Amino acid sequence: MKMIILDRDGVINHDSPEFIKSPAEWIPIPGSLEAIARLNQAGYRVVIASNQSGIARELFDMSILNAIHHKLHTSAQQVGADIDAIFFCPHAAIDNCDCRKPKAGMFEEISKRFKVGLKGVPTVGDSLRDLQAGFVSGCVPYLVLTGKGQKTLETGGLPPGTQAFPDLASMVDALLKDANAPAASAA
Ligand SMILES: [Mg+2]
Ligand SMILES: [Zn+2]
Repeated sequence: MKMIILDRDGVINHDSPEFIKSPAEWIPIPGSLEAIARLNQAGYRVVIASNQSGIARELFDMSILNAIHHKLHTSAQQVGADIDAIFFCPHAAIDNCDCRKPKAGMFEEISKRFKVGLKGVPTVGDSLRDLQAGFVSGCVPYLVLTGKGQKTLETGGLPPGTQAFPDLASMVDALLKDANAPAASAA
């Protein structure tokens, strides 16, 4: 099974320093949902792992988050994209949970739920903690420069092997092109 794990805010949809607190504020980045459809067509299952501390901060509640994710799913379906699952951490940093990225708890849950090892699984984020959580889980980290990505790139300290792309659409194009390229012959 091929799988890819995506951060949500700043990767699939525009991020906001004020948090995404309603379906109206959830606006896809141009090309991101179409990129997910291309991943599906290439046989990838697409899973989201997202920190949502706005729940702990009481900026929105579970019913709002469900409504946001309903919009995400229906918007995806409109372009033929399918998101297999959305894992989220509702906690704040002070809660010291195991699921909030940069910790690997959500990635471990994904591995259990889908009964798949995460070694070599591509993971895409716009924040350092996305890439760190993926890296310690054995995933291959990709940074996108949408959302907080440009700032993340400038700050540096990225996990070894991190590749950067302007956005999810270009990352997916490169990933699928790589996969379709003939294997290099041994020297
Ligand atoms: Mg993000
Ligand atoms: Zn958590």
